[in-house]
Amino acid sequence: MRAWAAHFFIKMKRTAFGKTGIMVPQAGFGVLALGRTHSDMGCEEGADLLLYGLEKGLSFFDTAQYYEEYPLMKAFIEKAEASGHGREEMVICTKSLAEGYEWMNFAIDEALKKMGLEYIDVFLMHEVRSGQLEERTEAWQALRDAKANGKVRAIGLSTHHADVAAKAAELEDCDCVFALLNIEGLGIRCGEPGGPGEGLPGYWIPDRPGTREEMEAALSKCHKAGLGVFTMKALGGGNLIAGYREALDYVFSKPYVDSVMLGMSTKQEVDALIDYIEGDLLEDYSPDVSGKVLKVNHDDCVGCGECQKACASEAIHYAENGLSEIDQDKCIDCGYCAYACPVRAIIRV
Ligand code: SF4
Ligand code: SF4
Repeated sequence: MRAWAAHFFIKMKRTAFGKTGIMVPQAGFGVLALGRTHSDMGCEEGADLLLYGLEKGLSFFDTAQYYEEYPLMKAFIEKAEASGHGREEMVICTKSLAEGYEWMNFAIDEALKKMGLEYIDVFLMHEVRSGQLEERTEAWQALRDAKANGKVRAIGLSTHHADVAAKAAELEDCDCVFALLNIEGLGIRCGEPGGPGEGLPGYWIPDRPGTREEMEAALSKCHKAGLGVFTMKALGGGNLIAGYREALDYVFSKPYVDSVMLGMSTKQEVDALIDYIEGDLLEDYSPDVSGKVLKVNHDDCVGCGECQKACASEAIHYAENGLSEIDQDKCIDCGYCAYACPVRAIIRV
């Protein structure tokens, strides 16, 4: 490792990731922010930004089969290695929505091939919702087998659901959990029956909103059980950015959280995070969001219409596909719709 790169790694605290034997930095780089639903960055530009993060100590990277970012990840890994960074410096996490054995097996092999890797550090069942853990046992078995044969170092699940996170602590062979946690509890769900949605015909909201206290209890339980714990959406998909420091203070103060994964799409965002970690963030720091707008992510929207009811400006309507979209000419950027959305589909990009 080059001397100056070592300097950055010394500054970024690293923690044992549960019992996995993997060490993770206190903050990681959420690659979703670079992908097709967010800034839609090209491979070269994205690889440069990830390398910039790596050289600041952000050596834990999260992507997913669903994000379609493996070419960008491959370009980054090649660029990092060409710059003198060993594969062992990087902790690569990916995940799949696969339900069956063959599908998950395919997802693992695809990730290895498309990212040009011999092994993946962390592979997760992606977005496990309440009641789904029991339905994805075949996919889980595929992950256990992949770990046994050395394709994957650690396995676990990602979730927005506090009840699912709590169950991860009891799941056989589960090494880690990746869960949604932020100061406002935005987007946290919990597994109790909800009711019919009012958008798409027949849509059923499967559970109720969860609280941050429920997620805190679940993640504390996972940590006590020896799982590695990392979190997503500390800034609520960009909706908590006005309280940047408070939002980060909240999640970084949790003793059961090993690493906080943050999506960033500019060097300035990376620098602000590093300044925050090193205690150098200016007292009056306020992120520049001038180039960002609220959008409905159609990968997550379920068409329930709650955002439309919350919008006094009548800036949200159904698109032809039955999902909501925001009219930027009418939007006054009050953010009420994002709070109303039960699945955190409204993001600032
Ligand atoms: S930010 Fe406010 S005005 Fe804009 S779409 Fe959401 S609720 Fe409506
Ligand atoms: S954006 Fe959220 S609140 Fe609006 S329709 Fe989609 S899921 Fe419902």
